[in-house]
Amino acid sequence: MEKYDNLGLVGEGSYGMVMKCRRRDTGQLVAIKKFLDSEDDKTVKKIALREIKMLKTLRHDNLVNLLEVFRRKKRLYLVFEYIDYTVLDHLEKYPRGIDEMTTRRVLFQVIRGIEYCHKSNTIHRDVKPENILVSKDGIVKICDFGFARSATGDQLTDYVATRWYRAPELLVGDPRYGNYHNVHLLTSKNHLRRPIDIWAIGCLAAEMLTGEPLFPGDSDIDQLFHIVRCLGEY
Ligand code: ADP
Ligand code: MG
Repeated sequence: MEKYDNLGLVGEGSYGMVMKCRRRDTGQLVAIKKFLDSEDDKTVKKIALREIKMLKTLRHDNLVNLLEVFRRKKRLYLVFEYIDYTVLDHLEKYPRGIDEMTTRRVLFQVIRGIEYCHKSNTIHRDVKPENILVSKDGIVKICDFGFARSATGDQLTDYVATRWYRAPELLVGDPRYGNYHNVHLLTSKNHLRRPIDIWAIGCLAAEMLTGEPLFPGDSDIDQLFHIVRCLGEY
């Protein structure tokens, strides 16, 4: 941390905090994600290591760029390029919705980034407004790979992410999500589809255009109720 000046807190989650910092020698602005004590808490350690592993293998214009990782006093620190806004910031500024052209530009890049993840056999699993960073020039960088995981396994059991963007198959606890059950739909392993991220992108699209979350459930059962009320029973 001696290399950086702390300019203030930009985000705080259950596993740590994100600070805006400036590199002393180069003046570069960075976001430093500081995890809670990872020796004491195995969940924190698992999430931090997963995020590092994912980010080290995934490189794309629309995914946040990890610059370095270091450990200090048992805590893991991830250093990212600093990006000015999130879609949540935009929504707070325009509570009745973001204009169509901006929404279209942002969504196009979100889809590009997620398409790249899926082609790399990774599901993001936590697409939502605060995890979509947008630079001053309108370049989108998807962040927060703490829940991302490889899509090749059969059972995905430890899923915990934001309810409003959760696909119905997650709400009813189907551990096989992410893979199509109907084998005849699979032409090859590279064509495995990743529906839960697509569901979340749909929720994001509606929220960007209207300013209101599409399915704002206040419990898992209420979440399903919102979805069924809108789409009918399957
Ligand atoms: P968490 O797991 O706590 O949600 P995130 O990686 O999503 O961690 O970061 C939390 C918040 O910090 C984001 O919602 C965003 O506001 C801010 N943030 C994260 N990465 C950056 C970045 N590279 N540049 C600017 N702000 C960021
Ligand atoms: Mg986040």
